[in-house]
Amino acid sequence: MKWQKRGHEFDKEAKKILSVPNIIEKCYIFGAGLLGKTLLVLLKAYNYEVSFIDNSIDKQGTKVKGTDIISLDKYLQKKDGLIVIAASADNTVRIGKQLERHVLKHGKDFLLYEEFINYIFPIISVYGFNKTYVSLSQISLTERCSLKCKKCAHGCYAVDNKTSIDLTLNQVYKSADSFFSKVDFAREFVLIGGEPLLYRNLAQAISYVGERYRGQIGIYSITTNGTIVPDEIVMDACKKYNVLIRISNYSRQISRLRERHKELISALEKNGVSYILGKEETQWMDYGFEFVNRSENEEELIKVFDACKTPCREVRENKFYYCVMARSVSDNLGYYVGEKDYLDLERLDSLEYKKELLEFTLGYSEKGYLDMCHHCNGLEAKNYPIPAAEQIK
Ligand code: SF4
Ligand code: SF4
Repeated sequence: MKWQKRGHEFDKEAKKILSVPNIIEKCYIFGAGLLGKTLLVLLKAYNYEVSFIDNSIDKQGTKVKGTDIISLDKYLQKKDGLIVIAASADNTVRIGKQLERHVLKHGKDFLLYEEFINYIFPIISVYGFNKTYVSLSQISLTERCSLKCKKCAHGCYAVDNKTSIDLTLNQVYKSADSFFSKVDFAREFVLIGGEPLLYRNLAQAISYVGERYRGQIGIYSITTNGTIVPDEIVMDACKKYNVLIRISNYSRQISRLRERHKELISALEKNGVSYILGKEETQWMDYGFEFVNRSENEEELIKVFDACKTPCREVRENKFYYCVMARSVSDNLGYYVGEKDYLDLERLDSLEYKKELLEFTLGYSEKGYLDMCHHCNGLEAKNYPIPAAEQIK
């Protein structure tokens, strides 16, 4: 979307959202599983009064993370807060229908997890709490990787591990300082790559962010491809700053990873570091970065960008990028476009900067699209399935 009323794009929408009773005080999370617990971290950081709703009779009347789990019937007696469904895709549909049978309306009485964390809550945070919020942002420490996936969405297969230059520690520090000087709260902040465990100064990077900004982060994580077991110094830093290790699971394609995962998990458990091993990935989607070449038609490019809504932002020194894939693929595949497709955090100094940051995060910019959208299938990528993590021979 192109900026039309920079600093005021969401004024009307915010008024509507904030008119929902108790919207900045109380929230019910439907589903007391992993997703629900991650939402709890965010809502607690904003001092919400939170309860879980769960259909499991065994769970009702108990607590999770010190928070009550109640039945839907109990909620219906008061209906005094918004419900956010935090469940798997199948369960979300089922719960949505269950709520509608009780005359609760989607968009008014209940929301889905993704739309809440990525769209509604950013607006609530700025207009209701005067705090800037970013749902997910990353620092890409290195473009080097220990795997060479054919269709890596960051284009890391094209990177020469011997010659590629990682971010310096000072660049990492500046990225974190710039970001947290303007962002009050990040639901999840990720150290990523390439393969971040290849980054030589990883423990220092973890500690610098952890020491200064842990209170501004809900989930502090590292995403790894599971090929490397971190050393003791990295383990200690992860434990100290409660870093979650997210292990992508490519073992269906690369069977030797199964043994590696066991080793990695055993080391993480021994060191008291939390982790999540993802489900075995079978299918990715092809963004087509190598061959898509759209026309220069502005209207078409804005349409592609607006439909995309990719959730992963990136901070790189003072530059805040809307799409981490666009920035990294542009560099790694040698397009070298999108030189201006970022928000300069150091120059974000107007009175309305919180609203401008919100607007940028939700897809507004001067151009209304990114240069890399020329070379990307965007939302249509889901129509081009490819095997996950297929390796270049
Ligand atoms: S998809 Fe992940 S593991 Fe594969 S090359 Fe890219 S960064 Fe490395
Ligand atoms: S369409 Fe544009 S914003 Fe979306 S993933 Fe592709 S390059 Fe990024």
